[in-house]
Amino acid sequence: MDIHIEGLVKTYQSEGRTVRALDGIDLHIPANQIFTLLGPSGCGKTTLLRCIVGLETPDDGEIRIGDQIVWSGRKRISVPPEKRGLGMVFQTYAIWPHMNVFDNVAYPLQVRGVRRPVIREKVSKALRFVQLEGLESRAATRLSGGQQQRVALARALVAEPKVILFDEPLSNLDAKLREETRKILRRFLTDLGITAVYVTHDRVEALALSDSIAVLNGGHIIERGDPQKIYFNADHRFVADFIGRANLVAATVLAQEADATVVQSPLGVLRCQKRDFSVGASVTLCIRPEFLLLSRFETGGSAGAADAAATATPLNLIEGRLETLDFVGEVYEAEVRVGDQLLLARVDPAVMVAAGDTVRFALAPEHGLLVME
Ligand code: ATP
Repeated sequence: MDIHIEGLVKTYQSEGRTVRALDGIDLHIPANQIFTLLGPSGCGKTTLLRCIVGLETPDDGEIRIGDQIVWSGRKRISVPPEKRGLGMVFQTYAIWPHMNVFDNVAYPLQVRGVRRPVIREKVSKALRFVQLEGLESRAATRLSGGQQQRVALARALVAEPKVILFDEPLSNLDAKLREETRKILRRFLTDLGITAVYVTHDRVEALALSDSIAVLNGGHIIERGDPQKIYFNADHRFVADFIGRANLVAATVLAQEADATVVQSPLGVLRCQKRDFSVGASVTLCIRPEFLLLSRFETGGSAGAADAAATATPLNLIEGRLETLDFVGEVYEAEVRVGDQLLLARVDPAVMVAAGDTVRFALAPEHGLLVME
């Protein structure tokens, strides 16, 4: 089931002033997708989720779930939360400590008076999905945090809602458990073809889990797209900066070529990803550190230049002075000074360089992303 949101506004009164938590949100969440609302603290993610589920009353706008209008200011419609047919999983596991795993998961079916054999079948299917089969009679309190959260997932799933809303469900888990649970979650949501609306401020989680991401700031949706689009091809500086580490450099458009936009920047004249900016426009050049990678083949004086000459689309060459080198496991993280700019870069551990060395990077035009403010 899809969700349509039009002109949604929600304000709060706080210490004598009005906070516009949602400032006219228009959004279509397609059916059977994992759709993530991502943004910094206070951007309005939770408020939007709570308006969809019916725990907050908007000031204006309309929310439709499938064919049903569940809230409309103009039409004076307000469907109560329990009649919206949605499941919800919160940050706190909210499972009942006095019940065992089976009873926790079975609860939504028991209150609806579903027959015992049907309950048994549905509970074991839900537990199988979250990989907790065999733990039915275990007391809920005698589970790890990750297992408790999976019980909460199974309980949201057991009633087979068409839409499940998740409010930072993995944020209380440690890093390893979060990754494991995220994979299980992605698999079961995809297998069951459920529409999932997922709130997080964790970029990696959003990228790994989502079919689509909407990035919010200040009660607005700044941009939406699939994870690759948001990470590699964002249109806005805010989004490019928020979703991952980035070198952001002020630049001016010099020329438009058939397959590249040429800019003047403190890193020199660079051919960048083709973007529809007019000549003379002030833009921001965004280069991810992983695209400034010093590998074995790009050291040794002219190797980078030779690569650049050999390819049909010439690479840009960026030369600078290595200032710092930090070993972080798979690679070294480096800071490289080019004039007044300090760039974050990566160095392959096989490369023998030291702070103070002059280094050269070959940057493909498609890895120089031009974004607007
Ligand atoms: P976080 O990631 O920190 O949970 P969020 O993106 O979910 O943040 P919201 O909780 O939706 O943000 O809050 C949006 C704005 O509305 C914030 O400025 C917040 O302070 C304000 N706000 C939220 N709930 C209330 C409330 N009950 N009363 C007053 N202001 C509120």
